Amino acid sequence: MTAVAPEGATAAAPALPYPYRVVSRRVDTADTATLELERDTGPLPAFAPGQFAMLTAYGIGEVPISLSGGGDTGDGRARRLSHTIRAVGAVSRALQATGPGGVIGVRGPFGTSWDVPSAAGQDLVVVAGGIGLAPVRPVLREVLADRATYGAVTLLVGGRTPADLLYPGDLRAWSAAGVEVAVSVDRPADGWTGHVGVVTTLIAAARFDPARTTAFVCGPEVMMRFTAQALIGRGVPAPRVRVSLERNMRCGVGWCGHCQLGPLLICRDGPVVDYGRAEPLMRIREL
Ligand SMILES: Cc1cc2nc3c(=O)[nH]c(=O)nc-3n(C[C@H](O)[C@H](O)[C@H](O)COP(=O)(O)OP(=O)(O)OC[C@H]3O[C@@H](n4cnc5c(N)ncnc54)[C@H](O)[C@@H]3O)c2cc1C
Repeated sequence: MTAVAPEGATAAAPALPYPYRVVSRRVDTADTATLELERDTGPLPAFAPGQFAMLTAYGIGEVPISLSGGGDTGDGRARRLSHTIRAVGAVSRALQATGPGGVIGVRGPFGTSWDVPSAAGQDLVVVAGGIGLAPVRPVLREVLADRATYGAVTLLVGGRTPADLLYPGDLRAWSAAGVEVAVSVDRPADGWTGHVGVVTTLIAAARFDPARTTAFVCGPEVMMRFTAQALIGRGVPAPRVRVSLERNMRCGVGWCGHCQLGPLLICRDGPVVDYGRAEPLMRIREL
């Protein structure tokens, strides 16, 4: 039998998953869907952009998945969590396929955040590759809710093909709200009139003042390395470039050591880490 945490027990008993009901499932791409989750009683745990939860597909397994948003029931009380899940293996496939009415387990949220408020008064550059747009989606929402606090806000998005791009509606809305949004694909399809090339090729033309810029970078490790180097090359201070690291995780709370990367436990000391700290660790293959 699967252990179930009593209401509100997430912080006190972080090893126990709490059951959440899937209230909506939106297909984003051929292999990716966004689930909105609701718990029947009790408030949602607070979460900060960049944090992740351990999601259980009952009877199959548990994997870390970032928060891609917190829904709102319309009565002013946030009762829903959003997770955007790409099906790559048994667990993510089962979670991604769970439809409305299905139940999945949630532990968390865990880990470090992007620390959006620390970018107050600065230009903000967000660079996302593929599913890496999911963990930065709450950043855009937080910034736009308090737009005057930040300088220029730029979002650079890379995808393999146009069909792989996430959240086209959000991209349009963010652009309309004054975010400079630039999108690039590796392989164009018929009718694509946009930019072609890896996402780093968008950095040179982006308008921001490097000396007063904070950057959040999320995507495959090689993309984050090249992006961070390009941003630092333009003059963004390395401590102000943050990346989100991925390692296989089990406990999510720093107990098991499964996600150790050098001196860091990524579930506890990450996933968001400043590039100055991450760079020497990312340089070593298979570390
Ligand atoms: C902090 C954190 C946040 C994450 N957020 C999201 C998210 O928002 N959305 C999402 O879809 N995924 C996210 N992931 C990745 C997700 O956890 C993995 O895709 C999942 O664990 C795969 O498990 P599986 O059992 O389905 O597949 P497995 O059978 O474990 O793996 C299938 C294939 O995927 C590869 N793989 C497994 N885990 C990873 C990984 N972490 N990174 C790269 N390749 C991997 C394996 O090498 C294998 O080739 C996140 C991972 C971490 C650590």
